[in-house]
Amino acid sequence: MPQTPDNSETTTSPVLNHDLGQGRGVWISTYGCQMNVNDTERMYSLLEMQNFVPVDEPEKADLIIINSCSVREKAVHKTMSEVGTFRKLKDKNPELRIGVGGCVGQQEKENLIKSQPMIDFVFGTDQIDNLPSLVAQTYEKRGKHVSAKFEHRAPYHIETMVRNPGVSTFVNITKGCDNFCTFCVVPYTRGREKSRPVQHIITDIRHLVKRGVKEVTLVGQNVNSYADENVDFSDLMAKVAKETDIERIRFTTSHPKDFDQKLADTIAQHSDKIMEYIHLPFQSGNTRILDRMNRIYTREEYFAKIEMLKKTIPNVVFSTDIIVGFPGETEEEFLDTVSMVEQVRFENIFAFVYSPRPFTKAAKYEDQVPEEIKSERLNRLFDIHEKMAFEIVKRYEGQTLKVLVEHADREQGKAKGRSTANKLVHFLGSEDLVGKTVDVRITKAFPSALRGELVQ
Ligand code: SF4
Repeated sequence: MPQTPDNSETTTSPVLNHDLGQGRGVWISTYGCQMNVNDTERMYSLLEMQNFVPVDEPEKADLIIINSCSVREKAVHKTMSEVGTFRKLKDKNPELRIGVGGCVGQQEKENLIKSQPMIDFVFGTDQIDNLPSLVAQTYEKRGKHVSAKFEHRAPYHIETMVRNPGVSTFVNITKGCDNFCTFCVVPYTRGREKSRPVQHIITDIRHLVKRGVKEVTLVGQNVNSYADENVDFSDLMAKVAKETDIERIRFTTSHPKDFDQKLADTIAQHSDKIMEYIHLPFQSGNTRILDRMNRIYTREEYFAKIEMLKKTIPNVVFSTDIIVGFPGETEEEFLDTVSMVEQVRFENIFAFVYSPRPFTKAAKYEDQVPEEIKSERLNRLFDIHEKMAFEIVKRYEGQTLKVLVEHADREQGKAKGRSTANKLVHFLGSEDLVGKTVDVRITKAFPSALRGELVQ
């Protein structure tokens, strides 16, 4: 019989002894977006402070955590089936504890434990900093534990915790979202939007620079609605550019409605540091569908933003997110999406078929598009973009690009890094180049990566 959680929604912590882990192994399985990848780093860091030791496979772990994602379909099913694969480990090691965090944890709470009693604890997206106490409870008091309360009133104060930041890393600046696009589960799984204080972000980036980081990507569900008292996202970007020694600044994800001339001007004014690559999701190229999605812009307004950005930022490069087969989408409306891709000439597209998500308004729309039509449209869109993409990247051939070197393979003598426009560039180079920005002349361009040679 499944045990009932004995302290649902608790956030009270037992006093931690800092040797809670006693050298026990911890393994975290991560799904989904960059926010989840960052959250996993945070979980590892917090648990390492309690003397848990990260291990490279679940078989070596005494604590397994699934950091789940519910943006795509069958998320609960995927989480459950992963938990099921640990049955043998749990049989062999009764001390093994299994926890589920992330968006599925937030969404399903105690339902997860009711349907899968192997799970010892569940925690929500606002409860990561309480993870050590929750783990302590599972070791000290047997039973099941759930902690999934949203801390709506608490300020968003988290310092960046990354164990090995490398050359390029991510810094959270906002969490949650207030936009309620009708297809999206994020407002329900990440809560209301909150921004970190600007001074905390600056301090974080200064520390990362001291640890050798050359590039930061500012992340949040909707970064350009960042607001800390009278500092908006453009002000924040300008401050990071002026007040830290970081060499490169990127950001993701932006909402078209919040992308204004002031932000474009800031990017142009600090083009030595703020990279000219913009990920600007349009989701659908048809105004009626955009309205049903609650995106708060029309097709024409999206185009106008693109034109404004092209005029203001020399060499700007775009990528986007697209949903195909949103409820009620007709063939003509889908063709508006195709024409948007063709006219803007995005270098990268991230396209998905629509899938109903729990709690969302669009899941209740009655005119759902049949699966086979959605898949056919998606494949058609990818085919069209793929043909264009070869043509679009051809222009890089013969150009010399500034590449920040992120990795080198000593044995093979090969190096790779990213151009200012976020293209992956491969070339022959040595390990001592890692962390440096070098000139690379492009000899061959593919949509996914460029090949070139170092300019001495
Ligand atoms: S802006 Fe829309 S799609 Fe993006 S996180 Fe918010 S609700 Fe989801």
